[in-house]
Amino acid sequence: MEGLMKGKRGLVMGVANDHSIAWGIAKQLSAHGAEMAFTYQGEAFGRRVKPLAEKVNASLVLPCDVEDSASIASVFETLGSEWGGIDFIVHAIGFSDKNELKGLYANTTRENFVRTMVISCYSFTEVARHAAGLMKEGGSMITLTYAGSTRVMPNYNVMGVAKAGLEASVRYLADDYGPRGIRVNAISAGPVRTLAGAGIADARHMFSYQQRNSPLRRTVTIDEVGGSALYLLSDLSSGVTGEIHYVDSGYHIVSMPTLEELKQ
Ligand code: NAD
Repeated sequence: MEGLMKGKRGLVMGVANDHSIAWGIAKQLSAHGAEMAFTYQGEAFGRRVKPLAEKVNASLVLPCDVEDSASIASVFETLGSEWGGIDFIVHAIGFSDKNELKGLYANTTRENFVRTMVISCYSFTEVARHAAGLMKEGGSMITLTYAGSTRVMPNYNVMGVAKAGLEASVRYLADDYGPRGIRVNAISAGPVRTLAGAGIADARHMFSYQQRNSPLRRTVTIDEVGGSALYLLSDLSSGVTGEIHYVDSGYHIVSMPTLEELKQ
């Protein structure tokens, strides 16, 4: 099946390099005919993102720091003036001070709690509000979350709290915008080796534990996350909104490994 995104235009936020989950998504969307705009956070990332944007013919490549409301507004002003409207957005953005992605959650500082919430949770709501203004014919939005939102994962700490807020935002936004034909969903990805993922203490242990203990006995690739994003952003999922869709080799359904597996 080809061309699922033909005639659709949208914004992809969160490509940092070719390991980024957003890059896996952008490749799938491009293969299915989407026209995309990319954002990047600061010029250092910009230098890496621009050649990737060229590979998938992204026609607009714009700076955006989601800590700054004016920066978000400016992206959507440009999209409005260049394209008039959009059909989809991908929000693949998260940040927390890596010094607090280890040890006890209880030690999270007020400053980092607020910053993590603004970047990793609130930015999706702010982006969604602007995007909805440009979705006159309906549309589809996705964000990226992790199972540390509902279960305690070692060292994920304040990011887990932010992801819980992000998942609740998905449900509220889905209800806000559903009457206008705009769908809002999240993909809960299993661990992937990325820049953001490397900030979590003992990330390798988390990775190999899930590799051994998920039903598929492996972790997922960014291309697989991209395939699920393609489904959620295309008309294939036209009846789906407010959903947290797990792409994690089934890890979230497992309670505990067998005795044999523990001995391995
Ligand atoms: P990544 O490092 O490739 O992407 C993170 C992106 O967030 C980068 O592009 C970075 O520039 C952007 N970002 C951070 N602060 C920003 C700011 N202030 N303004 C604008 N952009 C900002 O890592 P990734 O793993 O691809 O992360 C993408 C999303 O996927 C994140 O929300 C992450 O929490 C989520 N996720 C990751 C994993 C994993 O194991 N890697 C698993 C589940 C969910």
